[in-house]
Amino acid sequence: MKVGFFLLESDGCSTTALFYNSEMFKKLDAMCSLEVFPMIQEEPKEVDVAFVEGALMCEDQKRILKKYVGKAKHIVALGSEACFGFVPPKQQKNKSQAISVSVPVSVALPGHPVLGEEILDVIACLKKGKTPLIYKKPVCYQCTLREYDCLLMKGLPCIGSATLGGCEALCPAKGIVCTGCRGPVKGMNLKAFTQCLTEKEDITAIEEALKTFAVLNNG
Ligand code: SF4
Ligand code: SF4
Repeated sequence: MKVGFFLLESDGCSTTALFYNSEMFKKLDAMCSLEVFPMIQEEPKEVDVAFVEGALMCEDQKRILKKYVGKAKHIVALGSEACFGFVPPKQQKNKSQAISVSVPVSVALPGHPVLGEEILDVIACLKKGKTPLIYKKPVCYQCTLREYDCLLMKGLPCIGSATLGGCEALCPAKGIVCTGCRGPVKGMNLKAFTQCLTEKEDITAIEEALKTFAVLNNG
């Protein structure tokens, strides 16, 4: 299977995390034929699976994306910028857009960053002709399983219960609140979440972070 990684304006944190980890890179190399990696090769080739990282910023990028990525059998939006056009909770200040406005996305992997294992899982599934299984539970699920201290219970504005997980609760693991970089978990009940908050929590900060989710939920 021919695989390519295409970076738009982003710093490519998910792609680089995968490529700068020798263990991950060996696994990637064993699984597929790596055809395109923009940092080492400028002229893209046709691929079966195209991972695209970064948001669309201009018409020229749309044209390039269609030309080089449009023919791939599977197009994977890699990271929150490619999926949403920006990384929550940052509001969209410029006119950046999700890549799905330009090419048909078959797999969306939000995250800032996406973990290398998640990328490898997608390739493994597509190789077998299966639909990739994207993590569907909230961040709190993995956070609680790992027995991290709950920051929300300490009064900090963590929105892990409203956020799509799969990141292994990276931020709470370091004592940092989840700010929702993976966007809203499906079926999230914003009203119920905010009703659970007490005066102990920083409700204003939480509501501010959740505003982005409301935008994403409304398309
Ligand atoms: S720290 Fe955040 S992610 Fe972890 S359990 Fe508490 S609210 Fe959920
Ligand atoms: S804990 Fe939240 S903000 Fe941090 S990486 Fe995971 S989803 Fe993103």
